[in-house]
Amino acid sequence: MTNPHNGQVALLNPDKMGKSAQTVKNYINGSWVESSGSETIDVINPAKGTVIAKTPIGTVKDINDAVNAAKEAFKSWRQTPVEERIQVFFRLKNLLEKNLEEIAKICTTENGKILQEARGDVRRGIQMIEVACGMPTLLMGKGLEDIASGIDCYAIRRPLGVFAAITPFNFPPMVPFWFWPFAIASGNTFILKPSERVPLSQIKIFELIEEAGMPKGVINLVNGSKEVVNALCNHPDIKGISFVGSTPVAKHVYETATKSGKRVQSLGGAKNFMVVLQDANMDSAVKTVFESCTGCAGQRCLAGSVILGVGDDAYSKLEAGIVKAAKQATVGDGLDPAINIGPVISKEAKERIKSLIQSAEDEGAKILVDGRTSVNQTEGYFLGPTVITGVARNMKVSKEEIFGPVICLAKVKSLDEAIDWLNSSEYGNTTSLFTTSGAAARKFCYEVDPSMIGINIGVPAPMAFFSFGGTKNSYFGDVKAHGQASVDFYTDTKVSIQRWAKDSNIW
Ligand code: NAD
Repeated sequence: MTNPHNGQVALLNPDKMGKSAQTVKNYINGSWVESSGSETIDVINPAKGTVIAKTPIGTVKDINDAVNAAKEAFKSWRQTPVEERIQVFFRLKNLLEKNLEEIAKICTTENGKILQEARGDVRRGIQMIEVACGMPTLLMGKGLEDIASGIDCYAIRRPLGVFAAITPFNFPPMVPFWFWPFAIASGNTFILKPSERVPLSQIKIFELIEEAGMPKGVINLVNGSKEVVNALCNHPDIKGISFVGSTPVAKHVYETATKSGKRVQSLGGAKNFMVVLQDANMDSAVKTVFESCTGCAGQRCLAGSVILGVGDDAYSKLEAGIVKAAKQATVGDGLDPAINIGPVISKEAKERIKSLIQSAEDEGAKILVDGRTSVNQTEGYFLGPTVITGVARNMKVSKEEIFGPVICLAKVKSLDEAIDWLNSSEYGNTTSLFTTSGAAARKFCYEVDPSMIGINIGVPAPMAFFSFGGTKNSYFGDVKAHGQASVDFYTDTKVSIQRWAKDSNIW
């Protein structure tokens, strides 16, 4: 296959990355085109601190071109039988499987997460394609004869037009798949704006989408930053926006896009609590908690952050186990299979996390393992796992999203106290309980605010066929992502009520 980027992106083979820094292109109306703007942002390999590509900041013209292409494509795509539409998805599924390793390596190089995590990132994306292949069933409506004498009623789902998604840096391959497969398989057309910090895995994925035979204009890729986001939110021909990112931007997108009459689902930041009861299987709980807090260098929206041990015994076992695990962790370049924690995304992120650790110390907590000093790397943005004890409710580290490999420990007296604390958070993405008691598990599920709950699970990420999304400041909107909920978001329900006079010649 010829490289569609004419040498502009000679970076898709990760072995070639780092030798030069070139500007990524957009994919609009089935062609790879340069942004009409000239300003760019550096894409940096966080394990090395080197520039590996450049992302255009994008322009309103780029968005207008993409919307025009998607609007035109919608006319025939919505009339394409759903069975035909999903054939593209079957082909893409196979292409993604074949290229999984390459996409994972690109992901590790642009994002920093270890290769095993990057493979999981791609796998979770492929699962969205698999579920979208069931669109003939997902899209079905309902019908009922004789709602009144001789009157029948039919409700069908119909696509609305052009949708767009704006996605974050932390799951470069996966998060875009949360949205467009469901929007497109249900007959809409689409524009994706990936994070400007990690544009490369989407370039590879779009090459595969093209190879799978997606008709031109059905899906478009526009790179850029906030100017492009605002243009999407304000564009009169876009019917709805799916957003994932930090809470302030999620709120801004929700407010701006709803003001211009769009459907919006806007997934924001998180502060996730985990509770460990005395009756938990402690070895398994410690391992799971540690992986949740430090996997992807703590940069998951479902990462554990504040861990509450209930009672002296549970707490002391938890603390000892977590400290031991933190001291044994290996930190370094995610392409090295011996490494279990990669770098954080940027120098700024590293400085922010370090200052949050310092704030905990200043506010009276105790640092048991200090990740600021435990790593000896001369390049890249590495932090070792940090373990903090004596964390209290009013401390910054207990209220703000850290998004780094930091484990905040605290002791509480009862499950009620733990639930009261976690429900006082302004976020509501996820929470987990570790226990062998069914009664405790039920109470927990019944009483906690967050919408995604784990029982003896560290990263309770709903699969592609269940809905995904939090509550409070972790979610702005009402209809969630993935599966059937996605189909609800991307379609309108049209109801027709029909009365036909009986024709005595027929019946
Ligand atoms: P971010 O908010 O900085 O960026 C997300 C997107 O918004 C990017 O595409 C970016 O270009 C755009 N953007 C950034 N600043 C903007 C502005 N001022 N105006 C308009 N657009 C802007 O988020 P991030 O740092 O890339 O990602 C990390 C955040 O995402 C964390 O808070 C994490 O919890 C959250 N996240 C949430 C979920 C979830 O399911 N709730 C999933 C993944 C990540």
